[in-house]
Amino acid sequence: MRFDIITIFPEMFASVFSGGVVKRALERETVRIAVHDLRDFTEDKHRQVDDRPYGGLEGMVLKPEPIFRAVEAVREDAASRVYLLSPQGRPLDTALARELASYAQVILICGRYEGVDERVVEHLADGEISIGDYVLSGGELAAAVVVDAAARFVPGVVGKEGSVENDSFAGGILDFPQYTRPREFRGLKVPQVLFSGDHKKIERWRRKKALEKTIRQRPDLVTHKTLTPEDRRLLEEIPNERKGE
Ligand code: SAM
Repeated sequence: MRFDIITIFPEMFASVFSGGVVKRALERETVRIAVHDLRDFTEDKHRQVDDRPYGGLEGMVLKPEPIFRAVEAVREDAASRVYLLSPQGRPLDTALARELASYAQVILICGRYEGVDERVVEHLADGEISIGDYVLSGGELAAAVVVDAAARFVPGVVGKEGSVENDSFAGGILDFPQYTRPREFRGLKVPQVLFSGDHKKIERWRRKKALEKTIRQRPDLVTHKTLTPEDRRLLEEIPNERKGE
């Protein structure tokens, strides 16, 4: 799949995709990322991308014409999806990341200053995406987060088959705790069950720990639908005080 990012600060993306899973995906061409300088789509000699807001407030707003031109130039076909990064948008979560990964092309528009002319929202974008209930200075960091989260769901991007499905949220709850060498560190021991060699027992322990942590840290995720009958049995084994009751 392909991401196109439209920004007034293309240089901000030089390092962010130069390591880890996304870098490997770019090398293997399972994902393509093109970053476009919004100023290249202006038609005046000052390459102006912003202007004062109508109605007389402080600050600047990104103008619609270069953004419309940029999207029209990079769009591959009518099925491509166009999103504006915005604190007013749909919150990014696993479902949205998965959905984005299913499109052949996702075009991301990064806002700046006081924001973007509303005609972009109403007549160009398919939606707005927020990465959280706080305000960033621009959409570039948000776009990088969206690309990273969505790319993980593109088949072949995350190395070991199925490992994305074990991550937090993918199965509806948080991930189980992980341990590595050394077996004992400053008197802190790795749980004995992980050395048992009994895969069923280890799987059960992991599920129980994942449920326990989810209930403690994100009780909003645990609903009747997410719990299997075996989960309910495991939960009964967790002492009440650990459930925060
Ligand atoms: N005045 C706008 C508001 O209150 O909704 C905020 C503008 S913000 C300073 C500039 C740009 O940063 C936005 O147009 C958007 O592209 C980006 N941005 C800020 N916070 C964001 C968030 N939580 N998620 C995604 N993008 C965000």
